[in-house]
Amino acid sequence: MNLFRKKKAKLESLDIYVTLKRFDFYFDYGLIGEDHFLNSYIEEIDKQKKDGFFLHVKLPLFNFYLIGCSKNAVGGWKSLETAIRAHEETHFLDRYGKLGILEKRMKNKGKNISFHSIEDREVRANIGCLYALDVQGRICEDNEVDEDRISLGSLRKFTQDYSLDEAMEIYFGR
Ligand SMILES: [Zn+2]
Repeated sequence: MNLFRKKKAKLESLDIYVTLKRFDFYFDYGLIGEDHFLNSYIEEIDKQKKDGFFLHVKLPLFNFYLIGCSKNAVGGWKSLETAIRAHEETHFLDRYGKLGILEKRMKNKGKNISFHSIEDREVRANIGCLYALDVQGRICEDNEVDEDRISLGSLRKFTQDYSLDEAMEIYFGR
């Protein structure tokens, strides 16, 4: 792995590229199984974390930003993978101070979101999740996803037959 080649973070589900500062690195671990070495580390930080993870590892000089999804939670459902990954990618944007990129993208879709005014970072992350599902045309797909697999709050709503507008309305109208 050549650390010095990764000058841009590729956020796959959101389809956003973020230019990284010189000593910052972004790694998408993709789908990780139960035996993955990161699991014990993730559990230490957050015992509730089951679907996906976002980690910011801060060293004196370097910053590492890691994301990934639980293979188990995804269970082969592409829409769940998109949703979970986008959620974690949005956490990264949030931490990196780049939510403005997503705000602009959403504006192009006629959605005026002001992330500044949303206090809960999990809500901010779920908005990224809705956006990605819409961009990837997955809001209406996989609508028979096994409910047991859905533990990401209110994800169930996003995987039913809704447009982005409707999904946003439901999400905020909760
Ligand atoms: Zn989260």
